Amino acid sequence: MIKFNNFLEATLYFNTEKKCREYLENIRWEGKPYCPHCDHSEKIYKFKDEKTYKCSACKKKFTVTVGSVFENSNVSLQKWLLSLYLVSSTKKGISSIQLGKAIGVTQKTAWFMLQRIREMLKEEAESMLEGVVEIDETYVGGKAKNKHAKARRELRKNGTGYMNMTPVVGMLQRGGKIRMIALKHVHKINGSVLKPLVYDNVAKDSVLITDGHGGYYGLKNTYKQHEVVRHDQGEYVRGMYHTNTIEGAWSHLKRTILGTYHYVSVKHLDRYCNESSFRYNNRKKHECLRFDTALENCKGRLKYKELIK
Ligand SMILES: [Zn+2]
Repeated sequence: MIKFNNFLEATLYFNTEKKCREYLENIRWEGKPYCPHCDHSEKIYKFKDEKTYKCSACKKKFTVTVGSVFENSNVSLQKWLLSLYLVSSTKKGISSIQLGKAIGVTQKTAWFMLQRIREMLKEEAESMLEGVVEIDETYVGGKAKNKHAKARRELRKNGTGYMNMTPVVGMLQRGGKIRMIALKHVHKINGSVLKPLVYDNVAKDSVLITDGHGGYYGLKNTYKQHEVVRHDQGEYVRGMYHTNTIEGAWSHLKRTILGTYHYVSVKHLDRYCNESSFRYNNRKKHECLRFDTALENCKGRLKYKELIK
């Protein structure tokens, strides 16, 4: 059900903490509270404060935020939900400075909230990609030309301009979903990196489309069909065979990183990939339903120590 159509309506809708809490209870429990300590959902009693519950099986108390990214946060649920709305409804994301101003928290707090929200945008792979699947690789991060002269000389000596950049492999099912995998500890992509990722994510009876990267060599032995578009020979489209769809997704990822965040450190790159793929995979949904999809995934919590280590 569509409850709000834009930020103003969302603000009016989530006008009290109680309303926010009830909304979250509905999404997490679908009307039937369950105990996060022992998983029981029978004989759960609600306290007069309207937010604390007690489980008759294990006698422990809980609220709806236990075990979620909102647990033990000093930030109100109202600010959390409106932040999630802002992130899930914008095309290119929102910076911690912008978010801080919009909801009235410090930039540092907003940055931390955004990292937690990006964890929520991570989609679990439910099944293999199939049909026609475009596969491509790209590099994200610092460019050699922006580096200090001494660092550039070292890069030249090492014989690669990619040293400071992180490879990301993408697989996109035509008419379906994209998966982006950031390879944080890999400097250069080759077959031993690429092929296991394809085997793990793409069904064997699929038609693969890739560029001429040597790392894809041999996939045709395993897959129904493997079409190679030879960019190095000036070929970009051969009928239905091209990688334009996934290249569009890359340009979105890069515009988001450069335009909104300006800089992304390697250790957080996978979270930005989560955010970008979430936008792509849910782009046809109404904003309100996209918000619900993200909120359903609020389980698990990223601790501050984990985030800054
Ligand atoms: Zn219990």
